[in-house]
Amino acid sequence: MSADRSLQILLDELGRLPGIGPKSAQRIAYYLLEADAEEARRLSDAIRRVKEQVHFCSRCFNYATQDECSICMDPSRDQRLICVVGEPRDISAIERTGSYHGLYHVLGGVISPMDKIGPDQLHVRELLARLGSEDIEEVIIATNPNIEGETTASYLARTIKPLEISVSRLASGLPVGGDLEYADELTLGRAIEARRTI
Ligand SMILES: [Zn+2]
Repeated sequence: MSADRSLQILLDELGRLPGIGPKSAQRIAYYLLEADAEEARRLSDAIRRVKEQVHFCSRCFNYATQDECSICMDPSRDQRLICVVGEPRDISAIERTGSYHGLYHVLGGVISPMDKIGPDQLHVRELLARLGSEDIEEVIIATNPNIEGETTASYLARTIKPLEISVSRLASGLPVGGDLEYADELTLGRAIEARRTI
């Protein structure tokens, strides 16, 4: 393969990454071309390792390297609380606040009629199964404070309430329309502590 062709393949792959436009792709590609082989290999190893070793936790759908994730396997976590989030990255945002010590459940998205995503496309059935088999007292719904997140929260509240389990939502104060992952730790921590029953 010609040098031009291999460079073009790298540019195409980098350009597919979120947030990487053609200019950034070019900057990264030339950086890697000039970087020593060891540095480039560390990057390719890191990518291969997450793809080979990281999968979804069988219980909460967080990222895991074993059958269950490190949070599900930690006996010091409060087993009576489940915090429901859209994506695994939301767990990192909540963990960073240090304000929450319960379990999680990742939906794998949010309800979005426009994208044809309903409860059946999410891990809702698995959540309800957990509520039936685990000793859960409260479900905290921490979907993003936007239209889809709110729709998902009210759907879950309606579905869970008949089970006589308390359902709460993060307190207001989070930037409306924003993502949990971009909220600052203090604001997000406060929103968890001041959660309100719905
Ligand atoms: Zn888990």
